[in-house]
Amino acid sequence: MSSNEQPSTSYSVTVVTLFPEFILQAVGHSILGRAISAGLITISVINPRDYSTNKHKTVDDYPFGGGAGMVMKTEPLVAAIEASRDANGCDTPVIYMSPAGSTLTQHIASDLSQLNGMTLVCGHYEGIDERVREHWIDRELSIGDYVLTGGEPAAMVVIDAVCRLIPGVLGNDASPADESFSAGTLEYPHYTRPSDFRGHKVPDILLSGHHAKIEDWRRTQALVRTRSRRPDLWERLQPLSKEDRKRIDTYDRLSESN
Ligand code: SAM
Repeated sequence: MSSNEQPSTSYSVTVVTLFPEFILQAVGHSILGRAISAGLITISVINPRDYSTNKHKTVDDYPFGGGAGMVMKTEPLVAAIEASRDANGCDTPVIYMSPAGSTLTQHIASDLSQLNGMTLVCGHYEGIDERVREHWIDRELSIGDYVLTGGEPAAMVVIDAVCRLIPGVLGNDASPADESFSAGTLEYPHYTRPSDFRGHKVPDILLSGHHAKIEDWRRTQALVRTRSRRPDLWERLQPLSKEDRKRIDTYDRLSESN
């Protein structure tokens, strides 16, 4: 089932999910909704329940060896993954949303956005049969060290992070490059009107119209914010370029004298 008629150049995402409406409703809004309407991305869903062959359309079963919870059955899940592969071709990865996967980063999102598309497999219950992981899944992605009830919210996070990097989706191809993580730093602070809100003023430099100085201020803010909030990213930025070292030294000197 496809949410739209799309040109062949669309970035194609297929989500294998027991709850297709969760995905289709979530992608219909705002920037993603507009990108779908413009034919830049296609989001399709495949429900393993449609491939269940027993009369109750069962998609889960008890775990071998006993224990709490159910496990997603192999047959309908594999049939759904194979249907996605048939539709998308073998060059798009099949990704299982899993707390045991590597954690999604901007770098991974960027890599995925360079492909033609991806299949995202959402688990439920205790997860999926290990044999499906071993033989039908190309990679596993987590959205963080916590456990969700199902893979759909995680798939939505991946879809959002990846699809906004597809050229044209944001309506301004230059903007993702400035954002947090893209250049290895967190992003600088933003302000909009009014310039004085209840006595809280916008930094003077942003009102100066001096573009080079504004760029310099923003870079300094990005560096300072990264240093104080994300020591791990700060470590990776070392050694700083000569210009950035100068920015930080100047910032520290001015902070000390204030
Ligand atoms: N028993 C599994 C475990 O302890 O690792 C957790 C299963 S969880 C209740 C059900 C499904 O939610 C998983 O199969 C996976 O698809 C999804 N899920 C849960 N947490 C996730 C996370 N942090 N990132 C990505 N997917 C997650």
